[in-house]
Amino acid sequence: MAQVNHDVWQGGYECAVSLTCDDGNDTQLHIAAPAMEERGFRGTFYLSCRGNHWRERLQRFAPLHQHGHEVGNHTVGHTCSRNFSDEPGAPGLETMTLEEIEADVLEAERRLGELSPREERSFAYPCYMTHVGAGLTRQSYVPVIAKHFVAGRGFGEYGFSNSPYNCDLACLASTPIEHMRGEQIVGLLDHNLTRGRWLILTMHQIGGARLGTAPTEFERMLDWLDRHRERVHVAPVAEIAAYLRDEVQSGTQA
Ligand SMILES: [Zn+2]
Repeated sequence: MAQVNHDVWQGGYECAVSLTCDDGNDTQLHIAAPAMEERGFRGTFYLSCRGNHWRERLQRFAPLHQHGHEVGNHTVGHTCSRNFSDEPGAPGLETMTLEEIEADVLEAERRLGELSPREERSFAYPCYMTHVGAGLTRQSYVPVIAKHFVAGRGFGEYGFSNSPYNCDLACLASTPIEHMRGEQIVGLLDHNLTRGRWLILTMHQIGGARLGTAPTEFERMLDWLDRHRERVHVAPVAEIAAYLRDEVQSGTQA
């Protein structure tokens, strides 16, 4: 029989769920965050700090921080694979070094620290990609993230959920729920509860054709979480990660 982790979680909880939103847009400010707050939930919002107007942009999202959500690091450049481009010689993660990606995330941290300061922050890999270089020089930048952050949200093994004992906090699995029906999302939540794991759900915007999670499905998910609030610990990524690091994984790593 599969291992069930219900005893790992404190406060009577049987599993954990983190709601995450990427790239910052108005639907997160005006729909996602208020709907979470209405039910007493807090999420993680990963913002990249690019462009000349990064300060104004982060300022607009300051209410999230003030209301207790985690504002997470999503780099300055939001660099992904160059293979998305057809332009010969296009820049991308393949043309970056570990030093360059480290400088980028630390600059993002400096900018976020100005407007959304927090002791421990989590990071989300842009496009879920965790490498720099290509071919013989391709290497993981997970160790860079492990050095500076309490957690890194990637896509994970099969984009499913995280074992509280065995997940790599610097390379966590998450499940994108864009264009997913409410039944499917609730199915994921149910399954996670049965196993006692940590499910991280990723959204981009509420509604809209591009990477949208429909408002009705989003509400359905929140209602399920509300009904199971005694059993499911809903909290930002940094909070769950710090708990696992300090209370669960510290004594079990080989
Ligand atoms: Zn992104």
